[in-house]
Amino acid sequence: MWMAPKFEDKMLMKRYLRIAFILIIGSICLGIVIINFLPNIWFQRHLNKNWNVSEAESPGEPSSSQADRLCLIFALDGVSYDVMEELHTEGYFQGFYAPGRLVSTFPSLTRPAFSRMLIGGKPFGYERLYFDFEENRLKGFNLVKKLFLSETEPLDYHPKLHFLGFPGYIAYVFPDKFTRTAIGSFKKRVIAFKGTEFIAYMGISDAIAHIEGRQAQKAFLKKISSMLDETRNELGRLLDVVVFSDHGSNYVRNQRVDLAPVLVEGGFRDVTKLESPRDFVLPRNGFVSVAALYTHQKNASTIATLLADIEGVDFSVYLSGQSIMVNGSAGVARINRRGKRYQYTSIDGDPLKLAEINKRLMQMDQSGEQGFILADAWWQATKHHTYPDPLHRIWEGLHDLVQHPATLLVSFKDGYAFGPAMFDQPIISSRKGTHGALLDTHSNGFLMCDFMPVKRYNLPETIARLLAGAAEAKQKGLKIELLN
Ligand SMILES: [Zn+2]
Repeated sequence: MWMAPKFEDKMLMKRYLRIAFILIIGSICLGIVIINFLPNIWFQRHLNKNWNVSEAESPGEPSSSQADRLCLIFALDGVSYDVMEELHTEGYFQGFYAPGRLVSTFPSLTRPAFSRMLIGGKPFGYERLYFDFEENRLKGFNLVKKLFLSETEPLDYHPKLHFLGFPGYIAYVFPDKFTRTAIGSFKKRVIAFKGTEFIAYMGISDAIAHIEGRQAQKAFLKKISSMLDETRNELGRLLDVVVFSDHGSNYVRNQRVDLAPVLVEGGFRDVTKLESPRDFVLPRNGFVSVAALYTHQKNASTIATLLADIEGVDFSVYLSGQSIMVNGSAGVARINRRGKRYQYTSIDGDPLKLAEINKRLMQMDQSGEQGFILADAWWQATKHHTYPDPLHRIWEGLHDLVQHPATLLVSFKDGYAFGPAMFDQPIISSRKGTHGALLDTHSNGFLMCDFMPVKRYNLPETIARLLAGAAEAKQKGLKIELLN
């Protein structure tokens, strides 16, 4: 039988409820504090750790001819040409000449692109995780090393930087948390800098593009535009600025595609170490529109044929003797290279949509080189193509771009991407942009200067030339004039 609680019980219950209420509110407040402040405190420390060359190497007392100007070379990760062009037209980045496209490497990923642009070197792999055939193991991510050592790759572009505004993977969870810290810290360091050439990198723009999309990235870039104006006003000497990005973004929601099940069904084994002839290794890094697959060379053709039928796969490329084969839903073609010339031959269909251009270039070519067209003619004819400069970029991607090239590179169609299964979770899969593929939207970064106009289309090597020239100009105390 139910009995009414006694007076003391009621009091006790009320007290417990009050304590529970205070605990819940307290936990919510603590959560807010942790989410808002801890990442920034951590990021401040991270920034300081990567503040590497500036103080140690910058000349204390520049000569009088150099002291009156500073050249700022500023790399912004993952900003598309279209976004920067729109901002420039709207009146942001005042004082800059119109931006040009900076066509990325293939894959259009940060490591190879910035390595090519900033140091002309090769990173170990396309992304952090890569496969080493000699040691027969996956390499590139070691949690113990990551937490306790601050190792850099021998050809990493990071040591060249005076500012590294990249708060690591945590930026891809809380991209907005770091904006103010990064921008404030950046301005302070440029103003305090005593040398004549300041090289900076900011990765937050890419995190924002991936997680929050185009509008959020535009809002971030407006803050960068104001920060550059303020820096110019407060610097106390003249400022020359070059801003550029490593690749674009498609700024659309992307569906995750898994390649492994189809290959497993086809009789292959998804492994981390190649033991049997039908093994393959498929590193899952971030959520990007390209995949690097490592296997025995003789499997490449069969695997490419299996992958071509998967929804979302555009095509795969792999070495076959002295050639590269392209195999995708739109057919099969072969790429050959002879010196500085490339030849594109359709086997079945036209996977790179080059048939018309190829025909025209062959008609124009008077060299008698049997369809081998100069790389520069390909560049001129395809820099505005759906696949910009495809032959040279694919060739580099499988030969010279990284120290451990993949057996197959798989490029995805727009709206599809590859990555770990965790990207199927609703909270993570609300991603609003990616890059990596050969497509123009993924590949077209931007290049912009405030001291001279840039070309409408530029190659990654332009930045390396520009940096070499900037150093030379700095020595001579000259205004930089490099691009044409
Ligand atoms: Zn990037």
